[in-house]
Amino acid sequence: MKKAFYTALLIIFIIACKNQKPAAQGYQGQGKSAVVSTLSKPVQKQWKGIWTFDDETTFFSNDFESGRLNGITADGNNHYTTLITAENTPVNVSPWYAFKVWSKTPKTITIKMTYQDSRSRYFPKISTDGKNFTPLDSANFTGINKGTGDFGIKAVPEFVEIKVNISEKHTFITAQELYGSTRVKSWIDSLSSKAFISTYEIGKSREKRAMNLIAVSTGNHKKAVMVISRQHPPEVTGFLAMKSFIETLSGDSPKAQKFRENYDLFVVPLMNPDGVDNGNWRHNMGGIDLNRDWQDFNQPETRSVRDFLVKKESEGYEFVFGADFHSTWDDIYYPIDTTITGEKGKIVFDWINNITSRLPQKHTNVKPSIDIKPTMVSRNYFYVNHDMPAIVFELGDNTPRDFLKLKGQVAAEELMDLLDGQR
Ligand SMILES: [Zn+2]
Repeated sequence: MKKAFYTALLIIFIIACKNQKPAAQGYQGQGKSAVVSTLSKPVQKQWKGIWTFDDETTFFSNDFESGRLNGITADGNNHYTTLITAENTPVNVSPWYAFKVWSKTPKTITIKMTYQDSRSRYFPKISTDGKNFTPLDSANFTGINKGTGDFGIKAVPEFVEIKVNISEKHTFITAQELYGSTRVKSWIDSLSSKAFISTYEIGKSREKRAMNLIAVSTGNHKKAVMVISRQHPPEVTGFLAMKSFIETLSGDSPKAQKFRENYDLFVVPLMNPDGVDNGNWRHNMGGIDLNRDWQDFNQPETRSVRDFLVKKESEGYEFVFGADFHSTWDDIYYPIDTTITGEKGKIVFDWINNITSRLPQKHTNVKPSIDIKPTMVSRNYFYVNHDMPAIVFELGDNTPRDFLKLKGQVAAEELMDLLDGQR
C-alpha cells in the first residue's frame, strides 16, 4: 500500500516536471511579418555637406558614404543637438547615424542625439580613420529617459548625451562600423585575387549601383550554396559574420578545398547598396523593405537575385543550402520548421546544433517558422521556389566582434562537414 502511494507520488512528480517549462531566456525573436505592398514609395534624400559653428571653429559633416545626419544645432557651451531622421515612414526602429566632427583647437564637446519617432538603438562607435572603430567609452555616455526590459526598442534610452574629445583630425561617430559599397568592393576584390574566385554584376540597384556577386567555383559540379547579406543597411554585425563565413569557405584549409571540389558558392554581400550608401535605416531607394519583396519582386535589387537563381537552375544547378545574414537585438536563428521542410530541412537544424555545441559560451535561441507563403522574405523564396534548405542567420547589434568572426568561421566549418556527409 505504502509502495503504491510512493509510486503514485513519483508519477505525479514526473508529470509535474514535464509540464514545467523553463523560463524563456534571451531574445525570443519577432512575430510573423505582415503582408505589405512593395510598390515603390517616395524617399527623402538627405542634404549633404558641412555644418559650421562657433565662428567657424567647429565642424560637422555627413558628406561621406553611409553618412547620416539630418540636422544639428549649437546650444552654446560646446553642447550640440543632432536630429536623425528616416528615409521614409513607416520604418523599422533602426535609427542609423554616421557623421564626423572636428575643431580648429582641441576641446571636449557634448552631443545630444535625437531621433525621428524612435529611440537610441545603436551604441556610438568612434573612429579617426573611418575603418577602425571602438565603442565610445561608457563613462562618456548618458542615457536620457532610460528604457525598460532586456530587448527591443523599449529597452533603450529615448535620447543619449555623449562626450567626445575633438581636434583638427576628423572623428567619426557612427551607429556601427562603416562598410559602405566602396569598402565592401575592396573586400570582394581582395577575395577575387584567388584563381577560383570571380566577381561579376548581376544587375543594378535603383540608383544604378552594382549588384556584385562573388562566385567561388573550381570545377564543373552543379551543386551550390547561396548566401546574401545587408538587405537592411544598418545590419553590420550580420555582414561581419557573413564575411568570416565566406572567408572560411573560400580559405586554404583542407576542409575548404574539399568543399570546393564538390560545391560552388555564390554570394551577394551587399543586397542594398543604395540604402547602405545613403545611410538608410531599413529601406532601398524605392522606400521598400527588400525583405518583403521576394513574392512580388517590384524592386531591382531582389529581381537581380531572383533572375540569377532562375538562370543557374536553368543551367542545371541544385542549391543545397541558403543563408541570409541579418542583425537584431541579439543572436537568433530563424529556420523553417521541419513540419514544412521534412527530411530536406533537417540539415539546417543539425547545423544549428553543431554550431551550438562548438560555441558553448553563448546560447542562441532558435525560432522555427511555419509561415512560408506568400514568400515575401528571401528564406521562404529560396525554399519554396528553389527547394533550398534555408535560414535567416541573425546576429546581435552588440555581439562582440571577435565572437561574430568565430561564429561565422564555425558555421562555415560545420556546414562543410554536413555537406560532405551528404554526398
Ligand atoms: Zn534584417
